[in-house]
Amino acid sequence: MTELAIAKNIAKLENRIRIASQNCGRDPATVSLLAVSKTKPVAAIREAATAGHRAFGENYLQEALEKMDALADLPLCWHFIGPLQSNKTRPVAERFDWVHSVDRLKIARRLSEQRPAALPPLNLCLQVNISGEQSKAGIELAALPALAVEVAALPRVALRGLMAIPAPCDDPDAQREPFARLREALNKLQIDIPGLDTLSMGMSGDLEAAIAEGATLVRIGTDIFGPR
Ligand SMILES: *Cc1c(COP(=O)(O)O)cnc(C)c1O
Repeated sequence: MTELAIAKNIAKLENRIRIASQNCGRDPATVSLLAVSKTKPVAAIREAATAGHRAFGENYLQEALEKMDALADLPLCWHFIGPLQSNKTRPVAERFDWVHSVDRLKIARRLSEQRPAALPPLNLCLQVNISGEQSKAGIELAALPALAVEVAALPRVALRGLMAIPAPCDDPDAQREPFARLREALNKLQIDIPGLDTLSMGMSGDLEAAIAEGATLVRIGTDIFGPR
């Protein structure tokens, strides 16, 4: 992808987000774009940053750390969105601003213990297995409230909301169902837990449905950086 193509793709997505927000009576400023840069080179991220973009999502720790080092001159915001093993939490706690893929207490505890005191609390989303798929990461909805209460009490992390990757579906109406379930789950948690303001849901093929159901952050890779 050329620099122009990446800048153009980001502008197109910002436009899609604006139209989707307006179509459901939402302020487009309440929906942010996370550029998912996994497997893409440092140069591509630099190009997106030159176009004014700041927030990037990465799935693979070693790859992410190398890119962060190479881009340390830029004021970027890094989101970890991939599966996280408990023996790999320290660099995530030390280097990232957000983690979207927390689905068990052990991981959240370690991130809290390992978050350096000089940094603000690490922002977390709990990943929910919203379509109930056997092979998928994420906590089941029934177990979510208990986990959320425990994570919210940890001192060095800030529980911000929920993340989900629904089972793929091409029908725009049917796409909304799992997103609505995630929104309802967040609304219930908000009764008892302060500070929950994030619904990380929606990707290239379903961001309109996600925004209609309240997404505050959409995660887009392919439509910005091209196919992997
Ligand atoms: C890869 C990835 C994305 C982006 O997917 P695209 O299909 O490339 O837009 C979003 N969220 C998560 C959790 C991912 O792993």
